[in-house]
Amino acid sequence: MPALTLELAGTRNDALGHALSPRHVGRSGHGVEVAQLDGLDIGRQLAGDRLAHRRLSGAAGAGDQQQHLFIFAAAATDLRHGPHATRSVRDVQTVFDAQVDRDLVEHALAASTFGSMWLDIPRPAYPQATGSIICDLLVVGGGYTGLWTALHAAQRDPDRRIVLIEANRIGWAASGRNGGFVDASLTHGVENGKARWPNEIDVLEAMGRENLDGMQADIGSLGLDAEWQRTGMLSVATEPHQVDWLADAAAHGEGQLLDLREIRDEVHSPTYLAGLYNPDTCAIVHPAKLAFELARACQEAGVHIYEHTNAQHLASAGVALRIHSDEATFTCRNAVLATNVFPSLLRRNRLYTVPVYDYVLATEPLTDAQLGRIGWRRRQGIADSANQFHYYRLTMDNRIVWGGYDAVYHFGRKVNDRYEDRAAAYRRLAAHFFITFPALEDVRFTHRWAGAIDTNTRFCAHWGVARDGRVAYVNGFTGLGVAAARFAADVCLDLLENESTARTELEMVRSRPLPFPPEPLASIGIQATRWSLDRADHSAGRRNILLRMLDALGLGFDS
Ligand SMILES: Cc1cc2nc3c(=O)[nH]c(=O)nc-3n(C[C@H](O)[C@H](O)[C@H](O)COP(=O)(O)OP(=O)(O)OC[C@H]3O[C@@H](n4cnc5c(N)ncnc54)[C@H](O)[C@@H]3O)c2cc1C
Repeated sequence: MPALTLELAGTRNDALGHALSPRHVGRSGHGVEVAQLDGLDIGRQLAGDRLAHRRLSGAAGAGDQQQHLFIFAAAATDLRHGPHATRSVRDVQTVFDAQVDRDLVEHALAASTFGSMWLDIPRPAYPQATGSIICDLLVVGGGYTGLWTALHAAQRDPDRRIVLIEANRIGWAASGRNGGFVDASLTHGVENGKARWPNEIDVLEAMGRENLDGMQADIGSLGLDAEWQRTGMLSVATEPHQVDWLADAAAHGEGQLLDLREIRDEVHSPTYLAGLYNPDTCAIVHPAKLAFELARACQEAGVHIYEHTNAQHLASAGVALRIHSDEATFTCRNAVLATNVFPSLLRRNRLYTVPVYDYVLATEPLTDAQLGRIGWRRRQGIADSANQFHYYRLTMDNRIVWGGYDAVYHFGRKVNDRYEDRAAAYRRLAAHFFITFPALEDVRFTHRWAGAIDTNTRFCAHWGVARDGRVAYVNGFTGLGVAAARFAADVCLDLLENESTARTELEMVRSRPLPFPPEPLASIGIQATRWSLDRADHSAGRRNILLRMLDALGLGFDS
């Protein structure tokens, strides 16, 4: 079956001419939020659309498939009137529809190398596991979630024998490729959390802040060199309707509203119409260093780490668990599955998330003169506010990491590195970079890369246990997992200890999202949703019937 992407014929042209446009609100994080493809549109969330979003995630149950069929039938109907219809999708041109000189873009990308800039540094190697290994706790996955789980498990009980296995290299996947926005939100934005768990949103927000502060404290006390900077977050409006979203968010205490003059004084972009600055709810970090340093801390706490050790099978063996890799067999009392977007060892989990590919560029280090042209003295993380949004930040050596906008789902839910080097996505990102910062036309890109985001229908992590409570797992960070992974690790440990804690009592932790439907419904629905979001970006944020229906059902698709 040929791969389908979410790009819709007739709505997207090549990057240089008229790319899809943005919208949303960026409030935070990564590709943070937003992104195009959700059904629930995070954009508004952040910025404030107080449009009554949706309802809640209930346990997936009988009726799910019927509900999916209903939704996707509506999606298909909407599509029929969509991409091929005569009415104009581009009712409103957005700032990112501007023409950018093709030669400028090609030249800027010409010398870029493919692969995460963050991983382009020396890193320690760990052995492959062989033979028979017995432990108390086996952690599967060497990204942030697995590493925090192992570290906190060792801190809770230093006598416990803990083993962490990683199929590839520590931090090679999302944890070594992300934007490095460390956002306090556990719910992919306060609006998403408020809509789903109105009764506990204050607790969730407080826990998120506590988790962010705890992460900063851990990094300090363990001496992790992760280039942590508590810069805060700047959400920018690039379209008139987004100004209202930011004003609304400011009115709800989500930050300080900056008018056109103030935002352009802060960061000099002709695209900015307003900004929302929150100095405290977000830090930026070097993503790969964070993973490598966490691994070092794990080792120092007595955790045994193995790389190139791919868990392939999990089975019960009496009161123990047995997990097999190519060269080793692990016998353990408990296991945590921290495998993110990769196929779960528990087959029943596989319908709950889909991989969505997110694309990133990094520039060469800016000279003082180049940086001086755009201001940005406070070095905040920045996100713009469309459904399809960009996120960007400075590195310690003054490169700009610039990502987001395209979020591509491929038919069949596969994670596959051949989806990563996508020329059109990089050209589009580069064009949008120069629209945002025309004063940087002499800047070149040195790296381009992509990563798969573990997306579920509620846009934030979900947990569960299996094998009589001996296995805990978490999935579905949906593009905002750098800080949330630390919280998720603690939840997994609480669940294994079968303890009732403030964390495990959360409705967010006890409930599960609806699964995505099987193919081809998943592709049809996602494609329709993305097309609708593009339309909304080109219609001053107005949402069509499909998006409104998904909003009402608390369902969606995001990156
Ligand atoms: C391009 C991009 C930008 C992002 N930007 C941000 C951002 O700015 N802020 C933010 O908060 N979030 C961001 N995210 C999301 C964030 O990076 C992730 O949510 C987070 O890294 C998830 O960590 P993890 O440990 O759960 O997953 P991963 O880092 O994916 O680690 C999972 C690990 O499990 C291993 N594994 C899988 N299966 C097995 C197996 N069977 N046996 C052994 N090992 C296995 C994998 O090899 C992998 O290393 C971004 C993601 C991407 C892709």
